Order: sequence, then structure tokens, then C-alpha cells
Amino acid sequence: MNAQVTGLHHITAIASDPRQNLDFYTRALGLRFVKKSVNQDDPGTYHLYYGDYAASPGTILTFFPWAGLRRGRPGTGQAYATGFSVPAGSLPFWQARFTKLDVKQQPIESRFSDEVLPFTDPDGLRLELVATSETDPRPAAPAKDVPAEFAIRGFHSSTLALADAAATAQVLTGSMGYKLAGQSGHRARYSAGNGGPGTYVDLLTDPALPRGLNGAGTIHHVAFRVADDATEVATREILLKDGLHVSPVIDRAYFKSIYYREPAGVLFEIATDGPGFAIDEPLDQLGTILGLPPHLELHRAEIEAALPKLN
Ligand code: ZN
Repeated sequence: MNAQVTGLHHITAIASDPRQNLDFYTRALGLRFVKKSVNQDDPGTYHLYYGDYAASPGTILTFFPWAGLRRGRPGTGQAYATGFSVPAGSLPFWQARFTKLDVKQQPIESRFSDEVLPFTDPDGLRLELVATSETDPRPAAPAKDVPAEFAIRGFHSSTLALADAAATAQVLTGSMGYKLAGQSGHRARYSAGNGGPGTYVDLLTDPALPRGLNGAGTIHHVAFRVADDATEVATREILLKDGLHVSPVIDRAYFKSIYYREPAGVLFEIATDGPGFAIDEPLDQLGTILGLPPHLELHRAEIEAALPKLN
């Protein structure tokens, strides 16, 4: 039996300076700052969330920023690149914007039937704008100087770099309900649910890639989405039965989560679509207050005093 995973939920990465991180994702990429919270395992550190206006699952890129942290090395055993969906024809706009803003970018590549603009954030995190010929009905992220016709629609894909993809592919297709959607060179693409941008996981087995090392500019984990709590519990049972070491369900306030490592070592999470990011501040004010789970609320004053100022 397969789990009812419907695509990507959020992706969490490691950064160094939190102000630099906030500036890059909101100003250069035009994403909305949708939640300011803390790392629940290290409340002296921020957890910053960016996404579309409504903070929809499938658009949320989050960061644990540790000022001064050394850089990691992107490579095998990691989620290697994060792709955002943008409309076909929008890459010349982004190339010009990145040149103006001194964002490091590489030449456009063709991948399946799409055009891909690889670039990196200030910590060297590998990102891609995927100008897709597929229909992506999701609303544009509302940036004030990025016209809606060019703006990011949310995730397109997460690319995992692996020394050997077989066991990971088995977990995706055998336990999580993913299906093979395409193969090209060292890249195999898998899709979930109804398919399309926001669901894809690409497995990249390029022998030239080094082994990944954790640090600033690398991905911490990839979270997949399920509709509700009951589906999450059922999914957990399936993963346990298939021999994966799965955490209990953890309440992350904005969603409920389970965690496990896929066989190549990439940390996976499965998160519920609800209750969402508007539970502790109104939708039109997301990102304003410091969102804290109930057990940390008692310590709000000390936590706020210890965090660096963001602006
Ligand atoms: Zn997560």
C-alpha cells in the first residue's frame, strides 16, 4: 500500500547571517516573509519561513540561520538543488535582475521540456528557476518589483544527489506513492499526486559529484505534504511496515510532522497541510510577530532578547 503524499510541503536549509538571508529571499527573489519563529530544538536561533502570499504548502522555503557558521559542501547524500517554478519566457527577466543584484548565476540549461536557470544564494545554496512549459495554476508570489507574469509560483522540484538511487527510488515509489515521470542522463524524475510543478523529486546520480557535507548553504531536510492528520498517521504506519525508522508525530504548531531518513541519508519529513501559518497572526500580517509554540511561550521575553535584530 502507498502513502497519499501529494507533493512537496516545505524545504528547510541552513544559512549563516539571518539578515542577509531575509534580504535575499524577500528582495532578490520576491518571496513573502511568512513566519518568524525559532528553531524548536535551539530556541536561540531563528527559523525563518518564505513563501507565497497565503504561505501555501508547496511554496515554503525555510532556514535555520546560524551567524558565522562555516559553509557546507553540496553533494551526494543531500537534497542538492531546490527548483522554483516560474512561467515560460521569464528567464531573461531574472537573468537581468540577478546581474543587477550581483546574484551568482550560471548559464541556462535545458532539462526535459523546461529551461532552467541555476543560481546560488549568499551562502552558496543551490537554487534553480525552472521556466516550465507545464501549466502551473498557482498564484504568483506578490513582490513589489517582480511583475506577476515573471514571479515565482512555489517549488518546482527538489533534486537529491545520490551515489546510488535504487534504494531511494524504492522508498519513493514503493512507500510514498511517487511514480517515475521521466529519465534523462543521470537524472530520474518522480511525481506524486496529480503531478506537475510542486510535486517533483529528481534523483541525480552524477558520478562527478562529491560527497555532501552539512553546513551553511546546504539543505537540512525535505518535507512532503499529506492532506490531514489521519493520512499522516496512516502514512507513518506504511513507512514503519516498510522498515523505515520513523519518528512519532510531532506537533510543529503550523503543521504536524513525522521524520525519517531515506536509505541514502537524506532527512525526509511528512507534514500536514493544516492548520497553516495564520493560526497565530492574521494572513495579511504574516511574518510580523515572533511565533512560538506553547512550551516556549513562557520564555518569550528571554528568547526575544537573545535573538539578533532582523531590521
Ligand atoms: Zn520541516
